[in-house]
Amino acid sequence: MDTGRAAKFPFLRESAEFAEQNSADLDGLITSPSYEPARKRGLERVMDALERSEVSYRPLMSDYDRLMEVMSYPYARMIVSLVGDRFLTKRYALAEAVRMNGLLTDEDPDTMMIVSEELGVSSASDPDGILRIGFADYLRLANRLKSVDWKLINTEVHSGLVYLPKEKFSRLMQNALQDRIESELPLMTPDEYRPYLRGAVDSVSMALEETKKKFSPTGGEGMKNEYLPPCLNRILEMSRQGLNLPHSARFALVTFLHALGLTYDDIIKIFSESPDFDESKSEYQIKHITGELSGTEGYTPPECKTMKTNGLCYNPDTLCQQEWMNHPLTYYRIKSGNTRKKDPGQDAGK
Ligand code: SF4
Repeated sequence: MDTGRAAKFPFLRESAEFAEQNSADLDGLITSPSYEPARKRGLERVMDALERSEVSYRPLMSDYDRLMEVMSYPYARMIVSLVGDRFLTKRYALAEAVRMNGLLTDEDPDTMMIVSEELGVSSASDPDGILRIGFADYLRLANRLKSVDWKLINTEVHSGLVYLPKEKFSRLMQNALQDRIESELPLMTPDEYRPYLRGAVDSVSMALEETKKKFSPTGGEGMKNEYLPPCLNRILEMSRQGLNLPHSARFALVTFLHALGLTYDDIIKIFSESPDFDESKSEYQIKHITGELSGTEGYTPPECKTMKTNGLCYNPDTLCQQEWMNHPLTYYRIKSGNTRKKDPGQDAGK
């Protein structure tokens, strides 16, 4: 057994076998003083996700340290599950997947095959190390990567397999692991574990609120009309006047307000100012777009390019004409002086 690999990629079957061979189980992980390093590291995994968007890694020389690393993974997943916040789950899944991508690129083809098999991705490697991935899996995993490098036309395909260099192969595995973790969480955590996990859950919940504030274009301070981009100002005005809003405009408005951190009640209040306000229709639309009906994070607001294509780029001003202006949320951030951070979702797919 390769215990170094088990620690680097703790989602592997090999990692579970390593834990089993050492009689490590969840009861011990939660309650025993000997697993304190694993619990500390598990909390660190989640905090890394919030603070750095990537779980950190350091080489582990002894089998004891590797076992702690392996056990820190289920501990981190329990914390994320108990906090039960969709933003945290997505961020944690991404941070684990980014960490894995960084490590996998330096591995030999055998390890790459083991990882891809574990993640349910059909792949193969030649004796000379050339990596290939099944056509359908390529489309599924590369579909959200917007750079032209990922267009099928720029890849080599033979007999239903796409040939890839190591870096690109690892990048696709990142997407596969991210999807896997997102689909697996939240886990059912036994009630008797909750008191033991309370301290870690409280620390993460507090850090989560801070992170959300940082990412919110309003810095958590609610929407201010004077910072709104001209397009959204116009759409809001049309809504208030009861003018017929095309679906794309309603979509842009709701996703934008949601991204600013407005709640369902705040958004419905804005719609209720319209003279032909229909509560049940608006409720369905808002809940659908914000993901409340599906239990997902909802849609992201369209960028300027899409707004222009949809004829919604009303009255662009001098700030809009800046070469780098690409998103109504960027406009809001610049106007409000809150330029510290942006939501990672705004960059999704690069
Ligand atoms: S350039 Fe962008 S922010 Fe400005 S009005 Fe057009 S869509 Fe809105």
